[in-house]
Amino acid sequence: MTSRVELRNLRRTFGSTVALDDLDLTIESGELVALLGPSGCGKTTALRCVAGFERPDSGAVIVNGEDITKVPANRRDAGMVFQSYSLFPHLSARDNVSFGMRIRKVAAAKRHSRAEELLELVGLPSVGDRYPHQLSGGQQQRVALARALAMEPSVLLLDEPLSALDAKVRVSLREEIRRLQIDLGVTTLFVTHDQEEALSMADRVAVLRGGRLEQVGTPDRIYEHPATAFVAEFIGSMNHIPGVIDGDRVAVLGQFLPIDGEVPGDPEVDVLVRPEAIRLQAATDGAGLVTRSSFRGATARLHVDLAGLELQADVPGHDAAVLAPGARVAVSLVQRPALVTERTASFQPDVRAAESVG
Ligand code: ATP
Repeated sequence: MTSRVELRNLRRTFGSTVALDDLDLTIESGELVALLGPSGCGKTTALRCVAGFERPDSGAVIVNGEDITKVPANRRDAGMVFQSYSLFPHLSARDNVSFGMRIRKVAAAKRHSRAEELLELVGLPSVGDRYPHQLSGGQQQRVALARALAMEPSVLLLDEPLSALDAKVRVSLREEIRRLQIDLGVTTLFVTHDQEEALSMADRVAVLRGGRLEQVGTPDRIYEHPATAFVAEFIGSMNHIPGVIDGDRVAVLGQFLPIDGEVPGDPEVDVLVRPEAIRLQAATDGAGLVTRSSFRGATARLHVDLAGLELQADVPGHDAAVLAPGARVAVSLVQRPALVTERTASFQPDVRAAESVG
C-alpha cells in the first residue's frame, strides 16, 4: 500500500532557530520527492516530522487524508534509511533485515525467507550471514534499504543515504534505489544536499531555504526555470553578467534577451546565464581570452576572461583543442529567456569592449 503524504504548514523551532517555517509540501502516492537545500535549511527536521521522531510546534503531517501528527514513530508505517552506520553491528545482515519482523512476532522461518528475498531484491543474495563490519559501505546501505523495506512501508524516508559512499558506488546505488522505488511504487522522501543526485533521481525536487519551500517542480523545470535567484544558484553553475533592463528585455553583451520572471526596480542588473548557454567562437580579434580549460569527456568547462569579467562556459569536448588556454574567442549568449537579479557584481567590465558578436 502506498500513500499520499502532506506536510501542512509545518513549523519547528529549536530555541531561537527556526528549522521549519510553515513548510507546505505534498508527496503524491508513488512519487519520489527530493528535499534539496544547503546545510541547516531544515531537510532532516522535515523528514523526522514525517517519521515521527520530531513533533512540529504547529502544522500537521497528513497521510492518506489522516492526521498522524501525534501518532508515535513506532506506530507509523514508514521505513527509514540514514546516512550511515545505522545497522546493528552485533546482528548479521539477515537479522538486521528481519529485525522489525521479529519485533512484530513474525515466525522465524517466515522472517528468514523474507529477509533472504529482500537481500536478493537489493542485489545481495549471498551476504545473509555476514556482519556489518564484513560489508562495504555500499553493501551496508543496501542492507539498510532492505531493512527499511521489510515491513512493506507505505512511505520510504531516506536521509542522505549515499553521502558517505565514494562517487562510483553512489551513482550506481542511486540508480538502483530509483529502479526499486519505481518497481515497488513506494512513496519516497529523499533528503540530499547534492543537486545532481536530486535531479537524477526525483520525480520532483523541493528546494528548501531557511525552513521554507523555495520552489518545487520536476528536475528539468527547476533547472531550466528556477523561480528565484537562490534556486538558480543552488542548482548547477551560474554566470553573473552585468546587463541593463530595456522594456521587457535585457541588454547584455551586445544582445537583447527576453526576461524570465520578475524584473527588479533598478535597471542595472545581473543576468544569470548557465555555462552551456554561453557560445564561444575562436576569433583572433575576439574580446574573450580562454584562461583555463578542464576536459570532462563529452564537454569541457572553459574559463574565459572577458574584459575583466570571469565567465565559465561549457563547450563540446571535441572543441576543447581549438579553444585551449590562450585562445581568443568571440562570446555570445544563446538567445533564450534569462533570469535577472539585482546587480551584485562589484566589478564593472568595460561593456563596450566586451560586446562581441559570435
Ligand atoms: P544538514 O544538511 O546539515 O543535515 P538540514 O537541512 O538537514 O542540514 P536540519 O538538520 O533540519 O537541517 O536543521 C535545521 C536547523 O535546525 C539547523 O539550524 C539546526 O542547527 C537546527 N536543529 C536541528 N535539530 C536541532 C536540535 N535537536 N536542537 C537544536 N537545533 C536543532
